[in-house]
Amino acid sequence: MNTFNPAQFRAQFPALADAGVYLDSAATALKPQAVIDATQQFYSLSAGNVHRSQFAEAQRLTERYEAARDRVAHLLNAPSGKDIVWTRGTTEAINMVAQCYARPRLKPGDEIIVSEAEHHANFVPWLMVAEQTGAKVVRLPLGADRLPDIARLADIITPRSRILALGQMSNVTGGCPDLTHAIALAHHAGMVVMVDGAQGAVHFPADVQKLDIDFYAFSAHKLYGPNGIGVLYGKTELLEGMSPWLGGGKMITEVSFDGYKTQPVPYRLEAGTPNVAGVIGLSAALEWLEGTDIAQAESWSRGLATLAEDALAKRPGFTSFRVQDSSLLAFNFAGIHHSDMVTLLAGYGIALRAGQHCAQPLLAALGVDGTLRVSFAPYNTQSDVTALVNAVDRALEILVE
Ligand code: PMP
Repeated sequence: MNTFNPAQFRAQFPALADAGVYLDSAATALKPQAVIDATQQFYSLSAGNVHRSQFAEAQRLTERYEAARDRVAHLLNAPSGKDIVWTRGTTEAINMVAQCYARPRLKPGDEIIVSEAEHHANFVPWLMVAEQTGAKVVRLPLGADRLPDIARLADIITPRSRILALGQMSNVTGGCPDLTHAIALAHHAGMVVMVDGAQGAVHFPADVQKLDIDFYAFSAHKLYGPNGIGVLYGKTELLEGMSPWLGGGKMITEVSFDGYKTQPVPYRLEAGTPNVAGVIGLSAALEWLEGTDIAQAESWSRGLATLAEDALAKRPGFTSFRVQDSSLLAFNFAGIHHSDMVTLLAGYGIALRAGQHCAQPLLAALGVDGTLRVSFAPYNTQSDVTALVNAVDRALEILVE
């Protein structure tokens, strides 16, 4: 593994040549040349499908495709590549758990505990399955530190609690709840825990065995990989207990007019021709990342967010929603609407995001109807921070009456 070198890291991202100041990596990360090359090579050179044809190229492709599961298993310290199910992304993975695991098991009056900090992807699927089964969604509120209040979990859990939905890292506050404590409490009550790793996997992929995580999801596109591919990790016995929601090719062993028999997991949860290019691209992203000291890269991005926060804090009316040292900084200026500010900043060439960040319950708990958000990646620089702060100053001159 190489020591993290910011300039060398940055040089691998062709999009930075004309992306202006890109501060929206929590929405989606830019792609390094290694991922672009692997994807392009797949489309230019590969012939064949996976798990279907007997000719040599199709067989080789199948081997690469299956080896990618092992690479993801290695990233998460999962016991086996067979515990990795390909999905379109985090959203699909969580919906799959809600529909294929929870729905057949939930009874009217059962409880799904969802933290107030969740992204809609770890919220709406639970509201939907509650509607379908008569189960209830129960709030795990934020504590005074604006993190999900794990200390209150023991009081919230009842004999009817079945599932806990908790994010590893908030896409708004950057807050990371104490997963170890939360999972221990939930397991003590016989609950199953869904961890949304969409943000967390980018910075510190979870060790699913050490944390004893039941289900974990992440999306490749936030981890320098392609769009349209993501991962559901599940403990083997839980994946085996899931009823497939898609039927079709490759998920069966036998089909007749009398019925069908399914393949073992993960294949029976992956009907149809998969996103092979996506899997190859994700695998290339992980291989590429293995060459980087992630801890050093992470501390670089966090340092930039802190620099931005410290500089912006000197401007009047600034409020930060950052709850701990992270590469995210959500903020507002008193009396200035985030939409007005983001429009001006975008005009000055700063790519950032403003609004509700797909986390309306969290924003309600924070008492705001929206925020600006910048998110730093290891390819960002101190001059990006300077550009942001200068642009904010220009916008403040226009917006402050
Ligand atoms: N959870 C969190 C915390 C996220 O930040 C996101 C992406 N914004 C998602 C879930 C959903 O990920 P995707 O849209 O890739 O499915």
